Amino acid sequence: MKVLVVGGGGREHALVWKIKQSPKVTKVYCAPGNAGMAQIAECVAISVEDIDGLLNFAQQEGIDMTVVGPEAPLTMGLVDKFRVAGLKVFGPSRQAAELEGSKVMAKELMSKYNIPTAKYAKFTDAGSAIEYIKETGAPCVVKADGLAAGKGVVVARDEETAINAVRMMMEDKAFGQAGDMIIIEECLEGEEVSILAFTDGETVVPMVSSQDHKRVFDNDEGPNTGGMGAYSPAPVYTDELHRQVMEKILKPTMQGMAQEGRLYEGVLYAGLMITKDGPKVLEFNVRFGDPETQAVLTRLDSDLVEIMEAVIDKRLHEVNIRWKPEAAVCVVLAAGGYPGSYKKGDPITGLDDAAREAIVFHAGTGLQDGRIVTSGGRVLGVTALGPSIPAAIENAYKAVGKIHFDNMHYRKDIGQKALRHL
Ligand code: ATP
Repeated sequence: MKVLVVGGGGREHALVWKIKQSPKVTKVYCAPGNAGMAQIAECVAISVEDIDGLLNFAQQEGIDMTVVGPEAPLTMGLVDKFRVAGLKVFGPSRQAAELEGSKVMAKELMSKYNIPTAKYAKFTDAGSAIEYIKETGAPCVVKADGLAAGKGVVVARDEETAINAVRMMMEDKAFGQAGDMIIIEECLEGEEVSILAFTDGETVVPMVSSQDHKRVFDNDEGPNTGGMGAYSPAPVYTDELHRQVMEKILKPTMQGMAQEGRLYEGVLYAGLMITKDGPKVLEFNVRFGDPETQAVLTRLDSDLVEIMEAVIDKRLHEVNIRWKPEAAVCVVLAAGGYPGSYKKGDPITGLDDAAREAIVFHAGTGLQDGRIVTSGGRVLGVTALGPSIPAAIENAYKAVGKIHFDNMHYRKDIGQKALRHL
């Protein structure tokens, strides 16, 4: 089988790594890929948003299955186009992907189907939004409706920050049309957990739990990032919480989407806050999360390709998905300045040494004169297994210690939150 993975980050490197292990697979391509993926697959220089380019490539190469990593091509309708062309593709349709592409749509679905989430109000003009903030006060969370590359959410501790966020989104149009509508949400308190699940629209099978680290600095300080590390399992996520998440969140979301004519197939990602009143949805994503996927897939024992084929063929109920008992920890190594502006092109050393201790997934890397160099904000995801979370933490940081590039920075406390529950 020939498989095409669309994307070029740490998530896609983890996908390629796992897909390659399937005895069914003879060749893996990635578009556009990165320097790490190039070592195990063939990279093709097609952008993730060039849907026609990807379709032409898949047809010409006789690709048997395409797996989509990022959200943008899903919301642009890649899956619909591939299906019309008779190609097998793993991911939700454009209509279903709106669950991530429009936060207003997601909130309306949750209201309609009683799925627990923060209270909210939606606005189409800055004046009324600002008036509402002055009436209801802070803290609150201001969110752009559309996709904003993980930057469209401002958790405002005071009114001024909230009002500035509204102005930035609606008046300065920092995210273009994505900010034409915004929502203002109640600020939830608690610990966050990510639950990813496979679904074919009829059956939903959750993966093991994980936790991301969104803030750039230790102790959850500094601005939000795409994610600075992850661990799995999340010990805060008890069996009782799992039952609630299945019954009150995952199943009703899948059923609600079907009832709305948006049958959901692929990976459904629920970002949850475990509040004192139970789990509540912060956001849905319509694809594997990054960096959680790097920790979660490292623990997957079953053949990922078999699971994906079962999703596409709507026979997920037949598949028994097995997980390794070990814990996994992923530490993201970022370029100096990230999540602000950063330099590219710095040589990376120590990768082979690190690979003896852990799996080094590449995110923002490229090749220059035969050398691996930095080419993005999040550069690498160093992922290690261990018999326990503390052991996995130790293994991951041991590998991190072998890697170097100029101005590299990373969090030193990935996984520490888990230890409080052990
Ligand atoms: P992603 O890059 O994960 O897609 P996003 O831009 O869609 O991010 P969200 O995940 O919705 O944004 O929110 C980002 C972060 O903001 C959350 O992980 C959480 O820490 C915080 N957050 C969002 N909504 C709330 C809320 N109602 N209360 C408290 N914190 C929140």
